[in-house]
Amino acid sequence: MGKGPKVLSVGEEFIMKATVNEDCIGCGLCESTCDAVFAIGDEGIAEVVVDEVPEESEDAAQEAADNCPVSAIGIE
Ligand code: SF4
Repeated sequence: MGKGPKVLSVGEEFIMKATVNEDCIGCGLCESTCDAVFAIGDEGIAEVVVDEVPEESEDAAQEAADNCPVSAIGIE
């Protein structure tokens, strides 16, 4: 019997997290698509303003990631 690391299951709850990397050009599209999660910060590039994407914003966050012109948004 193997004793590999166990993958922890969180049941039904899926936690979505968003990231913005240094490729961001600050176009503002993600903020206008999903301002609950993204905002243009002081540096003029987008920031993720929440630790976890709220369930009701998951579709919009994914849409923002899909539409980012430089694919700077990661969703996990
Ligand atoms: S859509 Fe992409 S490039 Fe535009 S502000 Fe958001 S993360 Fe930056």
